[in-house]
Amino acid sequence: MSTINQFLLQNNLRIATNPCVSPDFCLDWHGLSAKLVSGSGLKIWSKSTFDTAVGKWTLLENVSTGDCAWKLEPTTGDGLNVLTDGIKITGGVAFPASFANLLVLKNLIQEHNPASTIFPTAGQKLGQSTLGIGARFTALHWPAVDWAMSALEIGMTANQNSIPRELVYDVNAMLDGKLDSVPFPFIGTNVPEGHQGQSVEGMSHGCVMAKLKTGFHRRSIAWSFNADHQPIGGKFDIREDQLVNGCVLASYITFDLSPEFAQTKVPDDAAGWVKANVPAELVSKVKARVASIGLTLNENDLAKLLAYVWPGVKKMKVRDDKYAAARAKLFTTKVGREYLRELSIDELPGLTTPETTAAMLSLCEALGMKVNFVAPAFGFQKNMPYPDNAALKLLIEKQWNVCKQFGSSIGFHSGSGKSGENYQVMGQVTSSHLEIKTSGRYTYEMGKALFASKNAADQALWKDWYKFTLELALKGIFSADATEQKMARIFVVDALSKSGKPTEVFASEATARAALEALPLSPEHMFWFEYNFLFVLAAGGKAEKSALGDHSPAGYKQRERFYSISDEGRLNFSKNIASYIIFLAENTALASKERCAAASKLLAGYSTLDTMLSDISK
Ligand SMILES: [Zn+2]
Repeated sequence: MSTINQFLLQNNLRIATNPCVSPDFCLDWHGLSAKLVSGSGLKIWSKSTFDTAVGKWTLLENVSTGDCAWKLEPTTGDGLNVLTDGIKITGGVAFPASFANLLVLKNLIQEHNPASTIFPTAGQKLGQSTLGIGARFTALHWPAVDWAMSALEIGMTANQNSIPRELVYDVNAMLDGKLDSVPFPFIGTNVPEGHQGQSVEGMSHGCVMAKLKTGFHRRSIAWSFNADHQPIGGKFDIREDQLVNGCVLASYITFDLSPEFAQTKVPDDAAGWVKANVPAELVSKVKARVASIGLTLNENDLAKLLAYVWPGVKKMKVRDDKYAAARAKLFTTKVGREYLRELSIDELPGLTTPETTAAMLSLCEALGMKVNFVAPAFGFQKNMPYPDNAALKLLIEKQWNVCKQFGSSIGFHSGSGKSGENYQVMGQVTSSHLEIKTSGRYTYEMGKALFASKNAADQALWKDWYKFTLELALKGIFSADATEQKMARIFVVDALSKSGKPTEVFASEATARAALEALPLSPEHMFWFEYNFLFVLAAGGKAEKSALGDHSPAGYKQRERFYSISDEGRLNFSKNIASYIIFLAENTALASKERCAAASKLLAGYSTLDTMLSDISK
């Protein structure tokens, strides 16, 4: 048994209430085998069935533990060796839902039907128009995302996470206590990476399982899995092979060159450096290509830009070859090996100029890397509308004039929480050749869902969650760390002033506490919004820096609380998620107004989660 599965079983952290930590969707094959043979206590996911050349498959689950198995009704022979660890059961053979078996199953499925939508792909329009639905929080949002894709009949980036920042990139490194940490200046501390607790393989596995359970794959809508902000260069060099291996089921890679950029110093003689280090043929190709779209980069500016980006771009190309090689090694089909690419350049300082975008896209083109999405910086603040739509239109137009000549769409990062008008501008200017990346919004929707729930346990969770953020805010207000203090005060002043309260409350901790505690609890308070995502893996739910991002059983027990919310809480959450996706699709014109209106009407009518989810397969 793998070390991670031992760890989870020893601490009673089961898939049913703590999914996607292990790469496997069966922790205890011994226990599940006994149930499979006796046939009792099993859920047969009847909508999950699909065919391959070797026979018909169905997903089975021990719902009390969440351990899953694949049942095969073989076309010929006993089928015992199709996957690993098979056992005979009534009507066929069963295999554990291990990650290794999942990889083989992907080949069997895609060899039999290249158009299958069980696994994430780069197909249909996913490389031009999509919505990025981040899982910064838990995996509880997936059924609602699948409902929205089904109702709107559009594919999306239905699984999206930054790795290794949000997802654990390697469970063994986690168990060995070798995860790095990520600076969060606004709370004045570093938090262990993988701060949501789930692993990249676990999430890769979980999103496929979620779709099979509701029969989403029957709708033939392609969806993608974006390994977001894959860090290139810098301190990540030493573990790039693990990053590549972990993301092997991702059908979409975002390249984030900022780690290498951060340590690149442009030499005084940039032109001389470029001459010595960048192939001359490449430089002339870039120059010609940028000129061909009517932009001019003078020699000096081009040399400076190339001297700055070339070390990172060179490493990106090496990494890209590794992603391709890993897929070629494991997967047998063209569709199974394909992946989309996004070039993230919004982490560079300042607003991105059209010339920079053109030079970067030219470089990628010259290196044979098709870039489906490029993410320039538009000066977005996370979760804040862009204040000036006319100015936004001009900014996007300038970028779009470049991107369209390379066949690239625009990726809008920090896309959560923009206004409807902002999204309309993005959609109109690009004719919906875009991706809006959203993530933090879905944590907020969970807060709203619990806040509105009448269930006592949901209310208790909500109050603990709110209190956690209030305590972090109070600590921040009086922190010796200047950034932390400044940000905490901004969040608190915003909450107080929007509630019509005086904001001069920082004289002492007592006055600040009294003012905050006098506020009615609300998910609309900015301090709740900004600190909330750290609660999910905070050991014991404690508002202490040392408790954040805790990968011990204490952190995972905390995470379990979210998987134990009531049916009412889940329905609220699912409806909130779906209605936000409809809002995005309508304003970006990814779906027609009529279809969005019909979907909204359908959504409003659900009074149970089961009826909502049973509509996914249609
Ligand atoms: Zn970015």
